[in-house]
Amino acid sequence: MFGGSSLVGDGEVPKDGEIGDPIPSTYVPFRNGVFLALAVSYAEAIGATYVLGGMNALDYSGYPDCRPEFIESFNSTVSVGTKAGVEGRPIRVVAPLLEMKKSEIISLGLGLGVDYGLTWSCYDPDGERPCGHCDSCQLRARGFEEAGTIDPLLVR
Ligand SMILES: [Zn+2]
Repeated sequence: MFGGSSLVGDGEVPKDGEIGDPIPSTYVPFRNGVFLALAVSYAEAIGATYVLGGMNALDYSGYPDCRPEFIESFNSTVSVGTKAGVEGRPIRVVAPLLEMKKSEIISLGLGLGVDYGLTWSCYDPDGERPCGHCDSCQLRARGFEEAGTIDPLLVR
């Protein structure tokens, strides 16, 4: 389904570059829009009120569908494009990590008992190891450094 992105095999994943400007080749066209649309459809089918997204707009690669204005716009579309919305029971997409620094997200997760050794961020892994050079690896490394802790994924 997805194409036009180095993240899904169309070209090389950029390494060791500036992050977020311009929008990198790892941007997957409207990926979050597609995922959120599927999640909202399911939410409406089961009568849920909220859809949670993990987007972040502070320490990120500059993808348009990770920004607050996208979430606001998408929620407007959901309100007018669903039976629940038209009947006054709007489904809301919320993104609680949206305006948090990566280090704050890491600290929050550690406080909640997240085992980051089981999480993955790399766009271009080298077998079983993260590459350490893509935007996502750089952002993750910076986040762990700023949080004052070691990424357990790198020491397992
Ligand atoms: Zn990487």
